[in-house]
Amino acid sequence: MGIELKDIRFSYGRVQALDGIDIRLEGGAVGLLGPNGAGKSTLLKIMLGFLRPDQGEGRVLDHDIRTEQTLIRRRVGYMPENDCFIPGMDAVTFTAYFGELSGMPRQEAMKRAHDVLFYVGLGESRYRQLETYSAGMKQRLKLAQAIVHDPKLLFLDEPTNNLDPQGRKEILELILEISSKKDIQVLISSHILPDIEFICSYVVILNKGRVAAKGELANLREASFRLFELKVKGEPARFLERIRALGCKVEETEDMILKVYMPPQLERKAIFQTAVEERIQVRQFLKSQTSLEDVFAKAVGVD
Ligand code: ADP
Repeated sequence: MGIELKDIRFSYGRVQALDGIDIRLEGGAVGLLGPNGAGKSTLLKIMLGFLRPDQGEGRVLDHDIRTEQTLIRRRVGYMPENDCFIPGMDAVTFTAYFGELSGMPRQEAMKRAHDVLFYVGLGESRYRQLETYSAGMKQRLKLAQAIVHDPKLLFLDEPTNNLDPQGRKEILELILEISSKKDIQVLISSHILPDIEFICSYVVILNKGRVAAKGELANLREASFRLFELKVKGEPARFLERIRALGCKVEETEDMILKVYMPPQLERKAIFQTAVEERIQVRQFLKSQTSLEDVFAKAVGVD
């Protein structure tokens, strides 16, 4: 993929948005995950050269993020989180305009605009005023403008924002197709775990401006805490305190089920033993399927 960042720091006044980011990404579809406010959008903007890091250095497609922003933007497509529409424009004009902004000659930009609008399923509505577009159509249009100049790398910031389940499914399938069939590497930022699981095999998890975890999804799952669901009877306060001291992270659900994230080396019998000692009756002890949700929970802390 060609992204290399070293010790990137950035603050908006007193808010430290990025606090020392080191990443090296080679290829494949990469998920940039993290809760709202983790720093994902800021990181994308730094890689595009829209924001200048306070500290650190980086290269995107072998271009310096501090000095070669124009070259980066010619080769990188960017679907921003917020709408970027210009009132009174139709989709063709809008898409072609972004092609020109990325350095394409006018005629070529116009031709490509038609092509990509058909590709994202907006061919029939390409002359309609953008104000009349549904949320799903707007997201497709933002995707179209991001790929109009045939980028090598595509940054997608929360691409399923504001979409109903059908719209979300459609845009995810489109992104999956782009990332698997075309010669485009995709970096997708999202706080929605299933979206990332659908598209990416490699993830970087951001939390509070830092990289909380990164790696192949399969490996992260492997190394991750194992999740068990416990149903217990008795007053659990001391029991919880003690299993937390053993390294477990525990969430209590409303229906009195305890979600226990056990560190890899801890054995189940340690939990049973503690329960016996604390006079807690364990009525159910089920292993849950590990999902990205668990990796995520572990990385950002479930407490
Ligand atoms: P994410 O994309 O993961 O939701 P952001 O990069 O948008 O995170 O935000 C990271 C942090 O920076 C948050 O604390 C956010 O409130 C703050 N922030 C983002 N944009 C601005 C801004 N323009 N001015 C001040 N603070 C900002």
